[in-house]
Amino acid sequence: MKIGFIGLGQMGAAIAANLVGARHDVAVWNRSADKAQPLTRAGATLAATPKAAAMGREVVFTMLADDTVLEAVLEGDQGVYAGLDAGALHVSMSTIAVATADRIAAAHGARGQRFLCAPVFGRPAAAAAAKLFVVAAGDPDDLQAATPLFSAISQRVFYLGKTPSAASLVKLCGNFMILSSIEALGEAMALAEKGGIDRQQLLEVMTGTLFDAPVFRTYGAILAEGKFKPAGFAAPLGLKDMRLVGQSAETLAVPMPLLSLLRDHLLQVIAQEGRDVDWSAIAQAIKRNAGL
Ligand code: NAP
Repeated sequence: MKIGFIGLGQMGAAIAANLVGARHDVAVWNRSADKAQPLTRAGATLAATPKAAAMGREVVFTMLADDTVLEAVLEGDQGVYAGLDAGALHVSMSTIAVATADRIAAAHGARGQRFLCAPVFGRPAAAAAAKLFVVAAGDPDDLQAATPLFSAISQRVFYLGKTPSAASLVKLCGNFMILSSIEALGEAMALAEKGGIDRQQLLEVMTGTLFDAPVFRTYGAILAEGKFKPAGFAAPLGLKDMRLVGQSAETLAVPMPLLSLLRDHLLQVIAQEGRDVDWSAIAQAIKRNAGL
């Protein structure tokens, strides 16, 4: 298929590489053009603007940092809205607010363009291994059109129905649950360690019994090793997600007391470690609070 791919950060570069590897015709755009080099060497073409990456393409993917960046890349003379043909499809994979997904769906609809909201679960290593989980919502025909592309980048696709923003809400729920799990794991590890138990041993018992889940295995290994740099998922992006969870919680009037704690721990990490640290470094803050 003729594809455009916009946003070659940690996730986007790995996803785009798998689409190029599956022999699709891919035009890429990134703010820092140098990140496109491995892809152009593998057969992708470099577009000069987001508009150029979308023009004449059947599908354009976006995998950008946040809502503001995504909307900036969509709007304006050189944006995706201006380039995408009527009837062509935009697949947004960033983690974005429900309200943003609703706004983008309406803007595409007004232009006769199609839109799938398709955020993903999985870190950069999972993206590179084509093992992501895609959570998609939008018109079922659009999902069908994108299915061969999702097959090249993921291990499973979940369909959340016709309203694109439903996928955003589910993704935000998931990220809230991941960070809650890291918090619980971090607190348990601090307790065990202060009581003289090896973190690795604690992890072995937990993942071998009641907590045999990818979230505990993946983050347990990171926490046991204490290696939070370079960031696989940077703490500022995690903070952005917790902010978006909070927006939905306010809109829907759902008290989420745990969310405030997670947000503060992320702020503590960013204040103490800087911005290029993994969001799981909240475990470091928990450790410090325990005097370890
Ligand atoms: P990243 O490595 O920080 O990449 C961010 C991308 O956004 C880069 O292409 C960057 O361009 C671009 N960007 C940032 N500011 C920009 C601006 N002002 N104008 C134009 N482009 C700009 O982030 P990532 O980890 O790939 O995450 C991307 C999205 O996926 C986020 O919504 C994140 O929440 C979500 N996500 C991440 C993970 C993960 O584990 N990392 C997992 C699931 C979902 P430059 O290269 O020029 O900086």
